[in-house]
Amino acid sequence: MDELLRDAAARAIRYRQNVGNRPVWPAAAALDALGRLDEALPATRQNDAAVLALLDEIASPATVATSGGRYFGFVIGSSLPATLAANWLAGAWDQNAGGVIQSPAAARLEEVATTWMLDVLGLPERCGTGFVTCATMANFSGLAAARHALYARKGWDVDRHGLFGAPPITVVVGEEVHVSVLKALGLLGLGRDRVVRVPVDEQGRMRADALPPLDDHAIVCLQAGNVNTGAFDPADAIVPQAKRAGAWVHVDGAFGLWAAATPARARLLAGYAEADSWATDAHKWLNVPYDSGIVFVRDAQHLRAAMSISAAYLVRGERRDPDDYTPEFSRRARGVEVWAALRSLGREGLTDLIERSCRHASRFADGLRAAGCAILNDVVINQVLVSFGDPETTRQVIAAVQADGTCWVGGTVWQGQTAMRISVSSWATTDEDVERSLSAMVRVAAEVRA
Ligand SMILES: *Cc1c(COP(=O)(O)O)cnc(C)c1O
Repeated sequence: MDELLRDAAARAIRYRQNVGNRPVWPAAAALDALGRLDEALPATRQNDAAVLALLDEIASPATVATSGGRYFGFVIGSSLPATLAANWLAGAWDQNAGGVIQSPAAARLEEVATTWMLDVLGLPERCGTGFVTCATMANFSGLAAARHALYARKGWDVDRHGLFGAPPITVVVGEEVHVSVLKALGLLGLGRDRVVRVPVDEQGRMRADALPPLDDHAIVCLQAGNVNTGAFDPADAIVPQAKRAGAWVHVDGAFGLWAAATPARARLLAGYAEADSWATDAHKWLNVPYDSGIVFVRDAQHLRAAMSISAAYLVRGERRDPDDYTPEFSRRARGVEVWAALRSLGREGLTDLIERSCRHASRFADGLRAAGCAILNDVVINQVLVSFGDPETTRQVIAAVQADGTCWVGGTVWQGQTAMRISVSSWATTDEDVERSLSAMVRVAAEVRA
């Protein structure tokens, strides 16, 4: 195994050394070469080194350079050096992180990482926490806890009896709700379309004055960080009202929640700590390798009631068993990289990572505005929306920027306007990456407009 693992490490190191010097989107020839993977299953045992070499030769060039410093599509983080290294080591451990009995080390790392996250995010220290695959599953898990809690209050054990004959729940979302929340509601039997949608303002923030009447059978879903504008629903105006009515407040904070780590942006999160459940990602702004999402629930018993298998099935010890808090039963030790990210960054490094991304986003906005482009959003964190004129021109500029290869940005439609969306979410992005990308955008836009 020695030589094989050394070879894998050497190839991975080479990849990361070069990822900043290649076009961000793979070359057409590299994509064509993926066709070589379409072969029949080998009939016999193959040489491991040859399998690895094939993987590296064909797939590495066809990857998107999301781990480099000039990928600004969707909201995609890179992986911090310490998290990638921890990921390799944890891969060698190959632990099943479901239970303490299977992996005391993985369980303890999750506990420590949880304590640190609750601290930097400003959330209640006794939250129940689940390490899941992504924010979609974190939203699912938080809403499952909400569903359990609201029904338990009415004397209905929804986890045992399901929704058959159960009294209805009202789910309130903003008009700008992320699609993953709707998907989670669908999976929970609460319905993607059965929601009450609250109108939003020009930044996509839910209007507190437009909330429907709430009661103790309602879930209000807030958003901390709109995927287009980065805007935050006004929790300080909504949460007290919702809590007074007895409603459950769930927060989708896939990336925005991390703004709490920087004092300069913390005001955006006013009121959020009073919610009941929170979903976030570690694979976005915390820059751990895919995949990694986290759910926090103020009253841990509700998450546990929704997620725990039967106590009779397993030997339970004194310590927290991770699989009591997640939809997954067997799973990888996801807490390892979260621990490594926070342990390596420290409070100062985390603040710097978040603040630096926001500063880069502002630089993009200023540079593009100076070049005559319209910035469609208030750049409050790391997201920038740019219009290059009419929808067709904007679409052409986006395609041309992507083809140029210096950087990669995607497109979106924001309140009816076609826009290029820049998301700065990577630790690896430097001032030079921003200036190079900005120049490429301005140059390409001028060519398209000409
Ligand atoms: C990215 C995102 C999600 C979904 O996150 P995944 O990790 O892709 O499941 C949910 N909500 C918001 C606001 C997001 O930006």
